Amino acid sequence: MRLVLATANPGKAVELRAVLGAAAGLEVLEIVPRPPGLAEPEEDGASLADNARIKARAVVNATGQAAVADDTGLEVAALDGAPGLVTARFAGPHATFADNIAKLLAELEGVGDRRARWRTVALVCFPDGIEVAAEGSCDGVITESPRGSGGFGYDPVFVPDDGDGRTLAELSPEEKNAISHRGRAFRALAQRLGARR
Ligand code: IMP
Repeated sequence: MRLVLATANPGKAVELRAVLGAAAGLEVLEIVPRPPGLAEPEEDGASLADNARIKARAVVNATGQAAVADDTGLEVAALDGAPGLVTARFAGPHATFADNIAKLLAELEGVGDRRARWRTVALVCFPDGIEVAAEGSCDGVITESPRGSGGFGYDPVFVPDDGDGRTLAELSPEEKNAISHRGRAFRALAQRLGARR
């Protein structure tokens, strides 16, 4: 099976190759990069699944080949589920990872309830219109300050409940993939894809 990666985020591409490449039931899987120069579609869907579909469809339409995409959101309990669908743009349309982390820590300053959940929808679109999707989540808490240099995005401020107190950015890529929202979503997706073959 050959899937074109819809993501332009190199951190995500690395995780995805590791997870899908190792997944049971998909012995023959080739993951090829997103074609350079392909414009990023606007992610204006009403759900994570909508946005994953928009990204995957754009690549299917441009390449004529099956594409795999994911969309992820961080839901913070004390912020009523924000930033959710706007996780990437929490601190504004051109926010950097550091900007987003700074805004999150500022909003949670003095807040005792620091529970949060990552949710990912992973989705493959085939040129014939068929779709296969799966979801994964990871519960944890937001730290008071960033720790660690691995991963990407909000990893330095998220401590998963299934870990040992380290942030996602302090875990090895294998440790993160084993318990992360995206790892779980893509393993579930791989199983569904394997079951279809
Ligand atoms: P996307 O929709 O998957 O592109 O992700 C939305 C936002 O969440 C972006 O700001 C990403 O950097 C961030 N993000 C997605 N996955 C992770 C993760 O595993 N760790 C930390 N941040 C993430």
